[in-house]
Amino acid sequence: MICAEGISSSTREKVLGGQTHFRYLGAYMAFFNIPRRPEDDYWAWTVNGIGGTFITLRPGTDTVTTVLITFLRKDLDISVDEPAARKRLLLDALKGRGTIAHRISTELDTVCDFYFGPMSQVQASTWSKGRFVLLGDAAHCPTPFTGQGTALALAGAYVLAGEIKRSADHAEAFAAYERLLRPYVEATQSQLTPSLIRLTHAKTRFGIAVTRLVQRLLASKMVQRIFKRGAAKRASDTEKKFVLPAYS
Ligand SMILES: Cc1cc2nc3c(=O)[nH]c(=O)nc-3n(C[C@H](O)[C@H](O)[C@H](O)COP(=O)(O)OP(=O)(O)OC[C@H]3O[C@@H](n4cnc5c(N)ncnc54)[C@H](O)[C@@H]3O)c2cc1C
Repeated sequence: MICAEGISSSTREKVLGGQTHFRYLGAYMAFFNIPRRPEDDYWAWTVNGIGGTFITLRPGTDTVTTVLITFLRKDLDISVDEPAARKRLLLDALKGRGTIAHRISTELDTVCDFYFGPMSQVQASTWSKGRFVLLGDAAHCPTPFTGQGTALALAGAYVLAGEIKRSADHAEAFAAYERLLRPYVEATQSQLTPSLIRLTHAKTRFGIAVTRLVQRLLASKMVQRIFKRGAAKRASDTEKKFVLPAYS
């Protein structure tokens, strides 16, 4: 049984309950579309709000603008499973955070593609038990903030299929799949830490002023050049560490 049920997998809990846990990173995330306005241009806009609310508005289609909001919250709030409670939590995070936050708050009731959830990683001490094996976010959700969840899920599916084909039995295949993929997964998950999340969500006016200064610096041509060189090296290091096996 291959379980690819995503982050909230219920079957994972039934089979591997005690062996998996969520690593909460100290923030929540919302993602949805709002109607596009004439003043929305074709740039992405980011806004840092006091208290640690970070908003990105970016062009969606000709009729919608996409909203991404992340905000700090010390504890994981398990009471926000219903849509109304989720929206209340988001409205709290947007309150008094400026004109863009106000615009989003007033349009929230019309949103019909509302995604909301804690930023948590799935960490499992093992990905299989007997004939049962986890795949993708169900096994190792790295959180959307890494931008790597899809790559990990696809690489995992490829490796699992290849190992099932070339192994003598499922036990050998599941063990090889985990041995090959786990270091890549753990390296990806460890790139994101609660302190990094706090750093990108400045809470005070002073913190926001420092963030803006750093952003200006990062956007300068000189720093961009250095970054590009470093990024190319980091990418090739990761590729060196994880090479997709060639299956016949
Ligand atoms: C807002 C947002 C933005 C993201 N941005 C990016 C990005 O830029 N780059 C990136 O790489 N990743 C991104 N991700 C993460 C990416 O979407 C996931 O990592 C990826 O979809 C994981 O694939 P999956 O197949 O493992 O799980 P999922 O895509 O979650 O699919 C699991 C499926 O199983 C279904 N299911 C659950 N339980 C059962 C059941 N019992 N029976 C039948 N079906 C069931 C679910 O309904 C779902 O359709 C983002 C995620 C979100 C929420």
